[in-house]
Amino acid sequence: MNKKTDKCISFNLDNNAFRGRIVRVNNVLDETFTRRDYPQNVGAALAETSALGIILADLLKFDGLFTLQIQGNGPISVLVADITSEGKVRTCAKFDEEAMDKAQILRKTEGEIEPAPYWLGKGVLIFTVDQGKNTDLYQGVVDLQGKTLSDCAMRYFKNSEQIDTYLQLYCKPDVNGWKAAGILIQKMPNNGGKENLSDENELNENWNECKILLNSLTADEIFDANLSENDILFRLFHEHDVRIIKESEYFFGCRCSREKLLNTLSSMGKQNIEDMAEDGKITATCDFCGNTYIFDKGELLPH
Ligand SMILES: [Zn+2]
Repeated sequence: MNKKTDKCISFNLDNNAFRGRIVRVNNVLDETFTRRDYPQNVGAALAETSALGIILADLLKFDGLFTLQIQGNGPISVLVADITSEGKVRTCAKFDEEAMDKAQILRKTEGEIEPAPYWLGKGVLIFTVDQGKNTDLYQGVVDLQGKTLSDCAMRYFKNSEQIDTYLQLYCKPDVNGWKAAGILIQKMPNNGGKENLSDENELNENWNECKILLNSLTADEIFDANLSENDILFRLFHEHDVRIIKESEYFFGCRCSREKLLNTLSSMGKQNIEDMAEDGKITATCDFCGNTYIFDKGELLPH
């Protein structure tokens, strides 16, 4: 499997008062869309989900698996991005093509891509961190309210974590599907541990200014291949003492295996297995990477 990586850059502003992340997701999505075909709007929603997932995973210190799952009652019922602490990313979507077409006719913005929540309807965003056996599962949930996925994520941080957060997500058509990008800043509690450095008013003024600067970043700029992530950050925040903290790499990778699928299929019951079989064989395709596995019916039935 080729391992072209995407970078997520961690940075601080104003002497650690604010922290941030910037990511451009090209290679992970290129691999995703080479392997799986999605309608245009599903692809765009999936691209944004992967950028949001990488940013959220990068903010957390964990050893295991981070999952961002978005569920709704709309034409797109599920969007998933799962990311391991080693940087392995995979994404997939479940959707109803006929319902997508109907919703497409009803959409308000002619010729434009509607933001993901439009296609998802009523639902929830769920973040899960699984660090393996004998550890507690960390889970955060927020209602899918707001016009964009970034609105939903910002509300989660505000309500559940009491952290002021500002976030923008971008997506753009690419050769095979979509590429995505995202940038986030957060106001650290207690001025990043340096309470006496500046008074509250100055801090709030700086915060508002950084939000305005972030908001001014256009899709054309963040996707400009001639600009590095560092260039973009210095352009935006040079008056706010931007410092690069670290660079993390993310790459496409699926965790499926013949053995895992065999276990899942075996547990589906004799009748289902009989129904799925064609000429004594059952073919299963991984939703994430598109790999196809073929089983003999006998392998799956209880012996
Ligand atoms: Zn797979």
